[in-house]
This record gives sequence, structure tokens and C-alpha cells, in this order.
Amino acid sequence: MPKGLWNNDLGYCKICQKKLRPLNKKDDYPSRKFHISCWKELLADIKHYNKRAYTKYNHKKMICGVTEQEARERLCNGEKIIMTFD
Ligand SMILES: [Zn+2]
Repeated sequence: MPKGLWNNDLGYCKICQKKLRPLNKKDDYPSRKFHISCWKELLADIKHYNKRAYTKYNHKKMICGVTEQEARERLCNGEKIIMTFD
């Protein structure tokens, strides 16, 4: 792939916001909205979301309406946590 600045109207990747480059191997590049690497990373994140949600996307595990950390602190302080299952 040639180096240099791209003067095209392909727009910007909707994931990383960087400029899209022409992809000469495939003829569908005028309709592309993402870098291939960004797209593959997104798919991998979805596939491993049960782990990456907590490490990459800053989600918190919730137990009985409180975060896991808070639930652990409550248990350490002698409080009881009652779990119900529907
Ligand atoms: Zn990108």
C-alpha cells in the first residue's frame, strides 16, 4: 500500500475516528465505515465481552444492586446480603 497523506472522501473510521485509507485488495472500500483492524477488535471484544466489559469498558459487577466491591465490604463488616432468584 502506498504511503503518504490520503486525499479522498472515504471519511473517518466510526470506531477510532481516524481517516480511512483506500483498500486496494477489495472493491468495496467506497462503502466502508471502519478500519478492518478496528472492526475485528470490536468483534473480538463482543466475543469476549464477559471479561472485557470489566477490564476494557469499565463496567462493574453488580450483586444485589450494589457493586461487587461494596458487597464484599458489606460482607466483611458482618452485614448479610440476601440474594433472590426469580
Ligand atoms: Zn479505525
